[in-house]
Amino acid sequence: MTRSRLLHVTPETHHVQIDLVYATDRNFTGKPIYKAQHCLLLEPAEAALRKAVDTARSFGMTLRIFDAYRPPQAQKVLWDFLPDPNFIAELGRGSNHSRGTAVDLTLIDENGEALDMGTGFDAMVAESAHFYPGLPAHVQRNRTLLLGVMHGAGFTHIASEWWHYELPGSRDLALIDNEESGPLRLM
Ligand SMILES: [Zn+2]
Repeated sequence: MTRSRLLHVTPETHHVQIDLVYATDRNFTGKPIYKAQHCLLLEPAEAALRKAVDTARSFGMTLRIFDAYRPPQAQKVLWDFLPDPNFIAELGRGSNHSRGTAVDLTLIDENGEALDMGTGFDAMVAESAHFYPGLPAHVQRNRTLLLGVMHGAGFTHIASEWWHYELPGSRDLALIDNEESGPLRLM
């Protein structure tokens, strides 16, 4: 069996913006969870991301990544803070972020502005669900645009979070305990 590797995603190599919010205090825990701003994806997810970037660039936009590979230890910190299986993968099940195949992101327009998605990244509210009824039309349009870009590149979505995409079949992959990223800060 060939082992897939985690690959670095950077603005220089991938033409994306990177804002790993779990390396800052701008996340729902209010504290940095990662020590380093390493954006990592498993090889097939990295390849799919490149496709998504190409599609977005074809109409003058780019992607801003909020999270990608997430070490299992960091997942435990999030789960301990908010043990809600609607938004945080239970530890026994594991997050597809910890498999290197999930990415959280949004679209950035030609002026460098993030598209209005109605709710913020990681807003743990019902309105963050795709196709939530009653959202303004432009919000539904923006979310659907991101959905098209990501599905066209081979990702699939989950119902509850407009920002989360992952490769189909991720659940069958192993959790990755990556030493290199060493992103856990003890809290
Ligand atoms: Zn996610």
